[in-house]
Amino acid sequence: MVRALERRGARIHLEGQLVSAEGGHLVLSTGEEFDAHTIVWTAGNGANPVVANHTDLPVTARGSVMVRADLRVGTPEAVVPDAWAAGDDAAVPDLASPIDGSITVPNAQHAVRQAKRLAKNIVATLRGEQPKDYVHHSLGVVATLGLGRGIFQWRGIVITGFVAWVMHRGYHVLAIPTWERKVRVLLVWASAALFGRDIVSLLSVQHPRRAFVGGGVPERDARELAGRAA
Ligand SMILES: Cc1cc2nc3c(=O)[nH]c(=O)nc-3n(C[C@H](O)[C@H](O)[C@H](O)COP(=O)(O)OP(=O)(O)OC[C@H]3O[C@@H](n4cnc5c(N)ncnc54)[C@H](O)[C@@H]3O)c2cc1C
Repeated sequence: MVRALERRGARIHLEGQLVSAEGGHLVLSTGEEFDAHTIVWTAGNGANPVVANHTDLPVTARGSVMVRADLRVGTPEAVVPDAWAAGDDAAVPDLASPIDGSITVPNAQHAVRQAKRLAKNIVATLRGEQPKDYVHHSLGVVATLGLGRGIFQWRGIVITGFVAWVMHRGYHVLAIPTWERKVRVLLVWASAALFGRDIVSLLSVQHPRRAFVGGGVPERDARELAGRAA
């Protein structure tokens, strides 16, 4: 992935943390400093402090709610009655992991499935039945590296390029709830493939007149005017 990004002109700084980003000037823990226009934060999320600071629920050292494998809140010693948790903010034991004491990673793959298990478990307890443990074997990870390029990994299998990009798109369409939403999203993608991206994008926030100017005058003049409008 690093090589793919470098081929496209990116500079990757590994083994370092962001120390400061004031006024568009970035300082890394390695001592490197440089300016940047755009900062995209992808370092992950912490636990919501509300739970640790404003409840008496048991939390882990990182502040996530401690839950048992059946998603009831509680420590191995005691269950908190009528309290359930799932998703990013819950430290759910990962029974599918070969490593003892693992917890499920905070992603939608788990959150969606945990929510379903949690709902079924609440119904089960209301009916006087036993709740079941949450177990999910990872379906792998998939990501895009820009339009038409992606990467998929499941255990030792790695797929890169266009096929992985299609898999990424396909999985996300499948994951979108309701057929109505799936069709809407697919139609937007299809129209973007034919006519380009919708002009309502972040770029148009920064350069709101560019599309308007571009649509009204011959191409050569449009480029000139767009430069001035920006
Ligand atoms: C940019 C980005 C990209 C991602 N891409 C992927 C991906 O490709 N694949 C994948 O599997 N996962 C992905 N994830 C992770 C995925 O989004 C999360 O794991 C998933 O949304 C967790 O679901 P959740 O219901 O636990 O939490 P959330 O979806 O975060 O929902 C929590 C909700 O609680 C609300 N809330 C917070 N505090 C309070 C409060 N005090 N009172 C009331 N409500 C409150 C929030 O507003 C929010 O609506 C991505 C995450 C990010 C940020």
